[in-house]
Parts: sequence; C-alpha cells; structure tokens
Amino acid sequence: MAGTPEGVRKAAATRLGLSLAEYEEHLDAGLLWCWRCREWHPAAEFATDRNRGRGRAAACRRTQNAAARHTYTPRARARGRRYVDARDDDRHQARRRVNHLVDVGLLPPPDSVACTDCGHLGNGPRHEYDHHLGYAPEHHEHVEVVCSACHHRREGARRG
Ligand SMILES: [Zn+2]
Ligand SMILES: [Zn+2]
Repeated sequence: MAGTPEGVRKAAATRLGLSLAEYEEHLDAGLLWCWRCREWHPAAEFATDRNRGRGRAAACRRTQNAAARHTYTPRARARGRRYVDARDDDRHQARRRVNHLVDVGLLPPPDSVACTDCGHLGNGPRHEYDHHLGYAPEHHEHVEVVCSACHHRREGARRG
C-alpha cells in the first residue's frame, strides 16, 4: 500500500509465506489479508481504520461483527466474595476488578488470548484488557483483549 515502508510489507509477506512480489500482486488487485478468515478479501469488505497503515481494519466486517458478539463478559461470580459497588468513571477500580477476575480465574490471562484488533498472539507486545465501553459502573467488567500497540492506538482514537 502507498506509504507503507517496504520492510513492513516484506515482513507481512514473509508471515504469509509469500514473496514480496506475490504479496504486492494481491494488494494491486485490491485485496487485503484478513487474519481471522486467514484469506484475502476485497478491500471494501473491511471497515475503514485511519489509525492503521493500510487504512483498513485487520479483519473483515463479517468476522469483526461476529467477534464483537463474543466479547468477554464474566457471568459467574467467585462464590462468597462481596464486591463493593462499582463507582462511575473510576478507571482504577475497574482495572483492579479485572485484575482480580484474572487472579481468581474468571478471566483468562490476557497474554493467552489473541489481540482483538490485530490477532497477535505469542512473543512480542504484551496484552492488556481494554475497557472498550468506558468506565460507567455497568461496564466495569466489559473488556476486550488487545496488544499494547493496539491498546495505544485505541486510546489515541478515543482522545480523537
Ligand atoms: Zn475475513
Ligand atoms: Zn494488536
């Protein structure tokens, strides 16, 4: 894609087992790689994302919508534990609560879950729980796993 440094395209091609020329043939044909489907789709099937080098989301709309429905919300409560009421807009309380849910095993450790935005899993950036709906009391336990790079991007986008 225009504006994407060659090194980045080369690394992307290698990850897919393609030569740089083969990779660029796909881009020239107006196709983009979808990490969730693990296949190429026409660019129009991806939501616009100006924060990304390629200007489009990393996964197609169809799977993004499906993934959004699977956003993790813990249902079960640790037995016998009393929670203080969630305070509105208290991000520290919300984060402590999520850390606690990880500690007691009601949420998986974030590094063990693929990044919601780019699909990253394994070595490299650490993963974090993002309060993607904000810090209203009813959303303290509504979180998505993102890698630190995507988390940073999300926070930048929220600030506008
Ligand atoms: Zn797809
Ligand atoms: Zn990511």
